[in-house]
Amino acid sequence: MIIFTDLDGSLLNHSDYSYYEALPALKKIRAADIPLVMCTSKTRNEVEVILGKMGLKEPFIVENGGGIFFPKNYRGFRIEKSIIIHDLKCIPLGMPYGMIRTFMDRFGPRFSIRGFGDMTEKEIAARTGLPLNMAAHAKAREFTEPFTIEHEGRIRFLEKTALEAGIKITRGGRFFHFIGCGNDKGEAVKLTKAVFERNKRKQELTIGLGDSLNDLPMLKQVDIPVLIPHPDGSYEDISLPNLIHAPFPGSKGWNETVLNILATFKRIEERGWKFSGNDRIEWKSLSRGRRTGSKSMRAPLAKKANVSGM
Ligand SMILES: [Mg+2]
Repeated sequence: MIIFTDLDGSLLNHSDYSYYEALPALKKIRAADIPLVMCTSKTRNEVEVILGKMGLKEPFIVENGGGIFFPKNYRGFRIEKSIIIHDLKCIPLGMPYGMIRTFMDRFGPRFSIRGFGDMTEKEIAARTGLPLNMAAHAKAREFTEPFTIEHEGRIRFLEKTALEAGIKITRGGRFFHFIGCGNDKGEAVKLTKAVFERNKRKQELTIGLGDSLNDLPMLKQVDIPVLIPHPDGSYEDISLPNLIHAPFPGSKGWNETVLNILATFKRIEERGWKFSGNDRIEWKSLSRGRRTGSKSMRAPLAKKANVSGM
């Protein structure tokens, strides 16, 4: 089993970035030695701080699928097509940050855009609500660039210009993001799973947890997708087979759903079933149970723009 998870608004609360309420599930995951792969718009530095705080040494996917990082000598795995970056094995998928900045230097003034590279750590902290040290980590980018634009009406023109340079634009909760056309959270999840399966020579059951439309490519790749509601209790308008709706927003909903999945999985294992065929019924009943148990959290469904962590 591998658990893939988004951070902001999923494992971490949207407002205070806390994962305190997910500690019981995190403890179980660690005790069972289940890989917890963070898949986020955050940077390598930011994820390393969070993993360090949690006492985890696991692979992770940064900057919306820009790169996959594995700790060196992780479970004795052979990681093909990887390069060493800061003592980690990296499979780069996105456009190097320098190329995105070159594009911005050329077209930035024409469109009045400002990226993290143009902002001080203090400004990033003020705009994101992150503490100053974490704002510095958020500024240390390798594959993507969050930015603001003075006249939002001009974003369509900018989009066209960027595409010609192989860069796409996504809209986050707080910023627009320049992302290389090769960046894809779903592709990164698929590749990470393949590394596990090649090295362990067995199929892995995958779980994915996310709260936004930008998590959809990740949720599509996993066997058990979990949708975490927004802080107001509304869910992103996503429909997928086996989709479980977490009963609460942020770390609380993350915790309860992961504990439920692990308990159900344990029951299935104890009965000596393999996870296929009829077992699907088990997951579906779990999904229905969660939803009927949390009617107040289900309505209204609010369709939101493509929201990433920031
Ligand atoms: Mg999120």
